Amino acid sequence: MTAPAEPPADAPVRVRPEIAAMPTYKQGRQADASAHKLSSNENPFEPLPGVLEALAAATEINRYPDATAAALRARLAARYGVDLEAVHVAAGSVSILAQLIAATAGAGDEVLYAWRSFEAYPLLVTVAGATSVTVPVGPDGRHDLAAMAAAVTPRTRVVLVCSPNNPTGPAVRRAEFESFLAALPSDLLVVLDEAYAEFVTDPEAVDGLGPAGYRDRPQVVVLRTFSKAFGLAGLRIGYAIGHPRVLDAARATAIPLSVTAQAERAALASLEMEPALRERVAALVERRDRLVAGLREAGWRVPDAQGNFVWLATGEQTMQVAARFDEAGLIVRPFAGDGVRISVGADESVDSVIRIAASVVEGLPEGHPARALA
Ligand SMILES: *Cc1c(COP(=O)(O)O)cnc(C)c1O
Repeated sequence: MTAPAEPPADAPVRVRPEIAAMPTYKQGRQADASAHKLSSNENPFEPLPGVLEALAAATEINRYPDATAAALRARLAARYGVDLEAVHVAAGSVSILAQLIAATAGAGDEVLYAWRSFEAYPLLVTVAGATSVTVPVGPDGRHDLAAMAAAVTPRTRVVLVCSPNNPTGPAVRRAEFESFLAALPSDLLVVLDEAYAEFVTDPEAVDGLGPAGYRDRPQVVVLRTFSKAFGLAGLRIGYAIGHPRVLDAARATAIPLSVTAQAERAALASLEMEPALRERVAALVERRDRLVAGLREAGWRVPDAQGNFVWLATGEQTMQVAARFDEAGLIVRPFAGDGVRISVGADESVDSVIRIAASVVEGLPEGHPARALA
């Protein structure tokens, strides 16, 4: 691709054409006080005990933070039984995704992932100058790992596997992930994006950091975040566990000093609160399962939900469906032409979502893919 001879009509300077063509990030709409914001998979609970105190104690804001986040990395290394160098911390796991893609893929290289999946993937690939190759998820919202393995070419540099898949919900199964890895070249980076790992209840689901995890598979990097189950989305902090040399490549592309001391302290404090965390996760899982059951009972076809959100494949009706929720004070996330993702929020939001959803499903044509087969 060559640079445009003239700046784009509305930009005063020359911008890479693929960047000029990118949509700017749209945040889930901010909700007014009476509405439930169910559009960004945020945690509805207040911070875990001790977190606000840890933040209040981190007052040296005239100083730069520790560039290596050594204290948090040491804590995570001990927790997962890996070396310090096998842990990388950044300002959100999205930052680590950007770093890994930038480190491995450039112009002419391919990054492979399922679609629909996390909306950040295509943007990060384009920014790196690489090319997205996508493989559709099945009608059940699951990754088609066999088709993904078949889509690998000599130009593929990274495969992104999102489990549970945002926004469709299911987790990748351990056995299919094993076969998938066995089918790949051993020098191809596989990023297992487990932003919602804490919410997974499927006993067959892959667990990148569990006893049967991937510490001995140098090509696999596991991403986790403090944004979802831990409820620290606003502080921007996430981590990767992987081979030290692979993580060195990510570290080399990182903007230094992006992880604040406040975020690091809050993460450390959160890790001390395992029992409280488990309680909250259990409450959210209970709400999620109640939501799925209620939606199915109302006539929706809902894919297996393993994160803190549910997916309705509303297709052409997506924007109208989202508007119906919106009118009822339920801010959901529409993906035009595809479906609506609804986060598990405050307890009282669950019944409201089911109630509105029950009236909306009636309006969908018979045989619509979002309707359960009668
Ligand atoms: C929310 C999310 C993340 C985490 O984002 P942070 O940058 O850590 O806040 C990563 N991957 C997926 C699929 C997500 O949904």
